[in-house]
Amino acid sequence: MIRLCFDYGHGGKDTGAVYKGRYESHDNLDIGTRVARILRTQGCIVDETRTGDHTISLWERIRFENRNRYDYFLSFHRNAFRPEFARGVETYIYLTRNKKALNLAKGIQKELSRIGFVNRGVKTGSFYVLRNTYAPALLIELGFIDNTLDNRLFDENKDDIAKSIAKMIINRS
Ligand SMILES: [Zn+2]
Repeated sequence: MIRLCFDYGHGGKDTGAVYKGRYESHDNLDIGTRVARILRTQGCIVDETRTGDHTISLWERIRFENRNRYDYFLSFHRNAFRPEFARGVETYIYLTRNKKALNLAKGIQKELSRIGFVNRGVKTGSFYVLRNTYAPALLIELGFIDNTLDNRLFDENKDDIAKSIAKMIINRS
């Protein structure tokens, strides 16, 4: 049985990045719950740090994850830089480069580049949710919210994006 902990970045009062009235927190919840739905139909258990537009601290997200043992922890985000300047998808893993996390991150990057996103590669970072989780942890930046082309790719391919991520998780579990 594959057990996953999903984390939809930001939420509630914390909107994350905002561009032309578009909230990162909404996009994160939208795409992440699509992946969760697909995985549940495949028999996976998916626990979520939030299921609606709620404000949740990073500490609460970690406490939630630390209560159970999971095959993976995935945090869903969208990137931002300077309006219409940067494009593409990148996935972060913790500095220790956990092998399982690295393999899944590479797989997800490859699948998403097939949909049309620029592949910015797998990167390491010391983000709080990567540092303090027990499970192999990934933080996916699903395109730049301040880039019109990335938003178009995101909006027109939500089902394919969700299916690709779900497929990779099952392949690598
Ligand atoms: Zn974010």
